[in-house]
Amino acid sequence: MFQIQNYLAGKLCPAISGKYIDNYEPATGQVFAQIARSDAQDVALAYKAASEAHENWKNLGTEGRAKILLKIADLIDQNAEALAQAESQDNGKPVWLARQMDIPRASQNIRFYATAALHNFSHTYQQVGSLNYTLRQPLGVVACISPWNLPLYLFTWKIAPALASGNCVLAKPSELTPYTAFLFAQLCIEAGLPAGVLNILNGYGNEVGEAIISHPHIKAISFTGGTATGARIAQIAAPKFKKLSLELGGKNPTIVFASADYHKALETTLKAAFLNQGEICLCGSRIFVEEKIYEQFKNDLLSKIQNLSVGDPQEPNTFVGALVSENHLNKVLTYIELAKQERGKILTGGERIKLQGRCENGYFVAPTLIEGLAFDCRTNQEEIFGPVATITPFRTEEEVLQYANSVEYGLACSLWTNDLSQAHRLAEKVESGIVWINCWLLRDLRTPFGGVKNSGLGREGGFEALHFFTEEKNVCIKL
Ligand code: NDP
Repeated sequence: MFQIQNYLAGKLCPAISGKYIDNYEPATGQVFAQIARSDAQDVALAYKAASEAHENWKNLGTEGRAKILLKIADLIDQNAEALAQAESQDNGKPVWLARQMDIPRASQNIRFYATAALHNFSHTYQQVGSLNYTLRQPLGVVACISPWNLPLYLFTWKIAPALASGNCVLAKPSELTPYTAFLFAQLCIEAGLPAGVLNILNGYGNEVGEAIISHPHIKAISFTGGTATGARIAQIAAPKFKKLSLELGGKNPTIVFASADYHKALETTLKAAFLNQGEICLCGSRIFVEEKIYEQFKNDLLSKIQNLSVGDPQEPNTFVGALVSENHLNKVLTYIELAKQERGKILTGGERIKLQGRCENGYFVAPTLIEGLAFDCRTNQEEIFGPVATITPFRTEEEVLQYANSVEYGLACSLWTNDLSQAHRLAEKVESGIVWINCWLLRDLRTPFGGVKNSGLGREGGFEALHFFTEEKNVCIKL
């Protein structure tokens, strides 16, 4: 059994405690690796390495840093197959999905920020007798904490802007999915990333994660994960005046009007609900369909869901792989039971699936569609984060807006209509950080990404992230 070590001061090493955590393969329910279990002692060493590396990393300048980061991006591409296999084994997602989405996006993230930093700029303000200009300076040592659903994708989405803008980083992947970050550390060594610039510490969130964010000299925390964890982090960080970027949960609506392009809306609604086992913060888990087309849309969606293949993530035909852990499987099943108690009608799915052979102990749930629930019941209000969606008819724009905006979350909305004015009207009124019109998950890395209400604080993406990881200083000269 292999060991997933920390990456500290340029070297792969065990945690100081010498302890390990079992790492499970979700598709088989078997332990396949051991993860270093770090704590505050490792954080102290990592902080020392990062703070010692900072001056040189900063002085390398954007071009020097871009050269190394671009090399890392190239190495991700060259090792894409091994990374995709590792991501699938660790997370349970289909290998084809990791190949098509997670791993290419990881190298894009690095490439995007390595080059975006070259084009970053600051402002000057001139008036008679004075000139002001602003400097954008790296913060120092920052923390990046990422979740298990898109492991390398979100890990790189955070560390790339932090490193490109001249910071050194203490990063923690989820203890459920640390494998690709470990392989990434090996690529950083191969690319010649100076020791201490990036340190990856593995272990439990409430041990090493909390030790990182509580460290008195960590200047900023970029966190993606659940809303409750985000609140805990904010509680610790606020009195220490650390900069905070929080990307949290979602309970996103897919809204389909009768005027929409029916087939595109149907295909994308299906994908938005069940891609990556429904474990994407942007998934459309509440489907609202205009009454005029409701019955037909529901029946067509139902037959498409019933055709989705649930199975071994290694199989090319598998669309729904395994859920990330046994705990998460149980959480999703508990929500399906809750939906029944709330008088929801399970149209399809609603149960654990037991496969044969290699995957007989894997964490599989049939893609589930539920009808007949009130918009404000718990099933329709709380984040399930699995292959479970609800479907509800609506008559008017006002009605569907009330449904869409009724939740405590506000991350994304996918809106389907061919009425241009209606599209603009609703895009303005819907309470979310992202609105997709006649599409879903169509990303341009330059755009601001983030949520409103309990879905987060601040924006990632584009120059927003470079701004987050730098401090603006104004210099005023009397002429
Ligand atoms: P968690 O909040 O449980 O964990 C996220 C990360 O934080 C993990 O690395 C975790 O470590 C760590 N962590 C946990 N507790 C602490 C703590 N007290 N201090 C510091 N770090 C801590 O989320 P999940 O991993 O379960 O991810 C799923 C959630 O992420 C969903 O709610 C989803 O909506 C959200 N998400 C949001 C996205 C967005 O962009 N808005 C994108 C993707 C996911 P460990 O796992 O080791 O405990």
